[in-house]
Amino acid sequence: MDTKTFKRTLQKSDRYHRRGFGHDAEVEDTLKTEYQSSLVDELRAANNVLTRGDVTIRLAEAFGFCWGVERAVAIAYETRTHFPSERIWITNEIIHNPGVNDRLREMNVGFIEVKNGEKDFSEVGSGEVVILPAFGATVQEMKLLDDRGCTIVDTTCPWVSKVWNSVEHHKKRDYTSIVHGKYKHEETLATTSFAGKYLVVLNLDEARYVANYVLHGGDREEFLAKFVNAHSEGFDPDVDLERLGIANQTTMLKTETEAIGKLFERTMLEKYGPIELNNHFRAFSTICDATQERQDAMFELVEQDVDLILVIGGFNSSNTTHLQEIAIERGIPSFHIDSADRIGLDNSIEHKPLDSDITTTTDWLPAGPLTIGVTSGASTPDKSVGASLEKVLEIKAAAAVPV
Ligand code: SF4
Repeated sequence: MDTKTFKRTLQKSDRYHRRGFGHDAEVEDTLKTEYQSSLVDELRAANNVLTRGDVTIRLAEAFGFCWGVERAVAIAYETRTHFPSERIWITNEIIHNPGVNDRLREMNVGFIEVKNGEKDFSEVGSGEVVILPAFGATVQEMKLLDDRGCTIVDTTCPWVSKVWNSVEHHKKRDYTSIVHGKYKHEETLATTSFAGKYLVVLNLDEARYVANYVLHGGDREEFLAKFVNAHSEGFDPDVDLERLGIANQTTMLKTETEAIGKLFERTMLEKYGPIELNNHFRAFSTICDATQERQDAMFELVEQDVDLILVIGGFNSSNTTHLQEIAIERGIPSFHIDSADRIGLDNSIEHKPLDSDITTTTDWLPAGPLTIGVTSGASTPDKSVGASLEKVLEIKAAAAVPV
C-alpha cells in the first residue's frame, strides 16, 4: 500500500476528523470535574511542596497529563457529544489509564476486542464512528475502517504523527528505520506500519549488537532469532543495514534514544567515512517535549532529599515505567501504582516493581517524619495523584494519633 497517499486521501475525506467538533467549551467543565484535584492544585500553588503533620510532599515540576493526552481525551468526549446516539468504538485504550478508559465505557464507547491475538472488527458496522487513540493506529486498521465507510475520529498525537513522517521519509529514500521502542507497543506497531524496512531495538544493548553487526558482520540466523517479530518482512541484516534512519516510540527514555542515535551515527561514520555519512545515516529529533519534561523533572526530584517516591500511572504506560527506572537507578525506594485504590488505609500498598508482577508491601510508609516524592505519567489525571496523596496523609495522620 502507498501509505503516504492513503493517509493524504483519508485526511481529505468528509468522514475523517482530527480536530474535534467545536464542543470544547461544553466538555471543559466535565473534564475539570472528572480529572482535576484540589490537593494537586494546592501543591501547584505552593511551588510543588506541601507539609502536613510529619509528611512533606514534593511533587515533580512536570508530571501528569501531557497536552497530547488531554487533547485526545477531550476529542473523545466531544465525539460523544457530537454523535449522541451513534455507535462509537475505539480501536484501543484511548490512553494508558484504566480510570479514563472506564469512563469512556460508561459513556457507551465500545472497545474493539482482541480475539486470539487479533483485533476483531467484525462488530463495527458501516457508518459507525471509530476513535483512534492518542498513540495512533496502524495504517491497515485505518484502511479497513475507511473501506467500511466508518466515520474516523483521529486523536493521534501530532508528535506521534511526526515520527510517522520520519519513517515515511526513510522509506522514500530507501533507509531502514531503526525504531527505539517496544515492538508490541501500540504506538510502535502503528509507526512500523508506515515504515518500509525497519528494525525495532528495545535498548542500548540491542542497539550495540546491531552496530557491531554493521561493522563486523556476524551470525545472520542468530540476528534474525534475536529480533524475531521486531523487523519488517524479509529483513536481511546482511543487506538492510547499509542505510539507517533513526525513529522512536515517543515515550522511551530520552537519554537512551539520544545515545542510540549517536551510536549509529558513530557506527556509520566509522564504516563509511565523513563524506559518505549523509548517504548512510538520517536522524530527526522526534522526542516528544512532554516525555522529556517529565523525565527531566524526575531527574531533579531524585536529587532532592526524599525518603521514597510514589510513581502513579498505568502499568502498561511506557513513560510511567521510565520514570520509575530513574528512581531505581538512584537507589531510592519507589512504588508504582495505577490508582489510589492500590493504597490500603492499613498502610499497605499493591504496587508493580519494575519487570515483576504486582506485589503487596505492608508498612510501606515508615513511622516518623517522611518526605515523599511524587510523579505521574503523561496519561495520569491529577485526580489519581490527589486521591493517592490524600490516602498517604490519612495513613500518616492516623499513625501520629497516640493510641
Ligand atoms: S507523551 Fe508526547 S507523544 Fe505521547 S501523547 Fe503526550 S505529547 Fe503526545
